[in-house]
Amino acid sequence: MTAPVTVHGRRPVGIDRATLQEGSYLGDLQRINVEATLPHIIAKLDESKVLENLRREPGTGEHVGFQFSDSDLYKTLEAIGWEIVRTGTDRFDGFLTDSYALLRQAQQADGYINSWGLSTSSPGLWVDLMWGHELYCAGHLFQAAVALNRAGRPELLEISRPFADLIVEKFRDQGTGGHPEIETALVELYRETGERSYLDAAAAFIRHRGAPTIHHGQFGPEYFQDHESPRTARIAIGHAVRQLYLDAGCVDLAVETGDEELLDAVVARWESAHHRRMYVTGGMGSRFQDESFGDDHELSSERSYAETCAAIADFQLSWRLLLQTGQARYAAAMERTLYNLLPAAVSADGTQFTYANPHQVRSVSRIQEHTAGRLPWFSCACCPPNMARLRASLAAYAAFVDDAGLALALPAAGRFEGADGAVTVAGDIEDGALTITPEGTLSGLRIRVPEWSTTVLIDGAAAESVDGWLTLPVDRATQVSFDVTPRLLVADPRVDAVRGCVAVQAGPTVMCAEAGDNESVDALAIDPAAPLVGGPRGVTATGAVLETDDDQLYRPYAERLLGRREVPLTLIPYRDWGRDGRVAMRVWLPVQGC
Ligand SMILES: [Zn+2]
Repeated sequence: MTAPVTVHGRRPVGIDRATLQEGSYLGDLQRINVEATLPHIIAKLDESKVLENLRREPGTGEHVGFQFSDSDLYKTLEAIGWEIVRTGTDRFDGFLTDSYALLRQAQQADGYINSWGLSTSSPGLWVDLMWGHELYCAGHLFQAAVALNRAGRPELLEISRPFADLIVEKFRDQGTGGHPEIETALVELYRETGERSYLDAAAAFIRHRGAPTIHHGQFGPEYFQDHESPRTARIAIGHAVRQLYLDAGCVDLAVETGDEELLDAVVARWESAHHRRMYVTGGMGSRFQDESFGDDHELSSERSYAETCAAIADFQLSWRLLLQTGQARYAAAMERTLYNLLPAAVSADGTQFTYANPHQVRSVSRIQEHTAGRLPWFSCACCPPNMARLRASLAAYAAFVDDAGLALALPAAGRFEGADGAVTVAGDIEDGALTITPEGTLSGLRIRVPEWSTTVLIDGAAAESVDGWLTLPVDRATQVSFDVTPRLLVADPRVDAVRGCVAVQAGPTVMCAEAGDNESVDALAIDPAAPLVGGPRGVTATGAVLETDDDQLYRPYAERLLGRREVPLTLIPYRDWGRDGRVAMRVWLPVQGC
C-alpha cells in the first residue's frame, strides 16, 4: 500500500531517497525486518502450505488454510520489493525466481490466479465473493507487482496484468469483494502503468459497494461496509481492517479524480475512529466479535482486539490523508501507532508476532491464540507479512516534499532527499533532541511539532509552530528540542472501561506496568500527585497495592476505600510488554482513592 502518490504538489520522499539511520530506533526495525523477519516468514510460507496450495493442479485437491493464504505470499513479495528498492539486496533473488515460476504455472490461460478458487474447496471461480477473497488476494498481488517493478523486477507485473485485465472486464458493471483491498491496489497499478481502465475499475468497486451487492449471511452488511455507499457513510464501522483498507482506496481514488465528496466522507470516518474508537496506543477495532470497531468509547483494555493489521491499515490511511491535506494531525496519528502498537506487535528478534493487542492482561488469564502474547505464526497469518511490508517501506513515510520544500512528518534519524537538496537528522525523538542539517539548496524545510510537546526550542530559544509545523533555516544546522517529560493522560469519561484511571505517556511513548517489575498489576493504583521520573524509555511513579479479599466481590459503598501499601511503580514502554515472557500488564492505572 505504499506506492508514492502526487497530490497538491505533495509527494513522499521515495524509498530510494530516504534512509533511516542504522542503529536508530526506526533503522533497527528495518534491519531486523530484513535480517530476521523476512527469512522467518519465507520459511513459514512453506510450513503453512501457502506455497503448496499454489503448486497443486487445479481441481485436484482441497485448499489448506484460509481462503486468502495466497496473500501471505504476495505481502512477503511486496516487502522484498521495497527491501530491494531500499538496499539493492539480492539475498531473496532465489525466492523471487521460485515464486515467479510458481505463479506462472498456477496462472490460468485467461490470467486468473487464486489457489483457493482453483481448489476443490471452492464453489467455483468468482462464486463466493463474500468469503472467497479472490479480489483481496489479487489486490495484494498487484501491490507486490508495483513494489517489485519499482525495484527493477518487472516479472510480477507481467504476471499481474492479464489478471487485472480479467478483473476489469468481469466487474465493470457489477460486483465487489467481501474484503476491500482491490480498490487501492488498482489505483496503484494505474499509477504504475498508466492504464486508465484500472482506475475506472477501482471507481466501479467503490461505486458498487453499499448497493448492497454482497450476500451478507450472519455478519450483516455493516461487517463488510456494504450497508451504505462509501460516499455517504460517515462512521467507521464493522470489520476494522476492511473499513480501513476501503478508506485507503477511497482516498486514492478521490486524489486521482478530484472527488471532494468521497474524500470528505473518508475524513469523517477517520475522525469517528480517531476521536471516539481508538486506543491510546493507536489500536483500532475494539471488539473480538467480528474483529470490528465497537461503539463510540467502547474501548475495553482487557478485551481489546486491536488487530495488528488494523493498526497497519490505519497508519497507511493516515499517511494518505497527510499527503492529501498536509495536516499535522494525520502524522500525529501515524506517530502514535509507530511508537506504540506497531512495535509491540513484533518481538525484539523479529520472529514472533501479536495478532490481537490487549491493553491489560491479568495475572491469571485464559490464554487464547490471539491473546497469548507473541507467537511465531498464526493459522490466520495476515499480520506478520503485513508488518514486513510496512517495515521495509518505513523510511518513505517519514518525510514528504511539496512546493514549500521538504517536510519532516515523522522526525527520525536518517537522511531524506528532496528535489533541490537533502536533510540529515541526527538524534532520537524519544531523547527530545534532534540535530537537523540541511544540504544543497533546499527551498524550504519544516518539521512537525508533536502535540505532546508543551514546548519546542530551536537552538535553545522558544519557537512557535503554526498548525503543528515549524519552519527551520535551510542555510545552517539547528538543534530542535521537544519536551519528553512524562505526563498523565485521562480518557473521555465515556470510556467507562478506564474511568478513574490514568495512562502515562512520555514523548510519543505510552507506558505500561508489567508483572515482574511490579508487585501486582491486578490490584495496582497510582498516586497522580507524586512525581513521574524518567522519559520515553521508562518511568518510575509512586502507587500502592490495594488489599483485596477473595471472599468479598462486592461491598457497601461506605467501605470502598481499601487498605493499601505504598509501592514504587516501574513503567516500561507498552511496546516492550512481554519481551521476556511475562504477560501480565496494564496500560491504564487506577488512581488512588477511587
Ligand atoms: Zn492481521
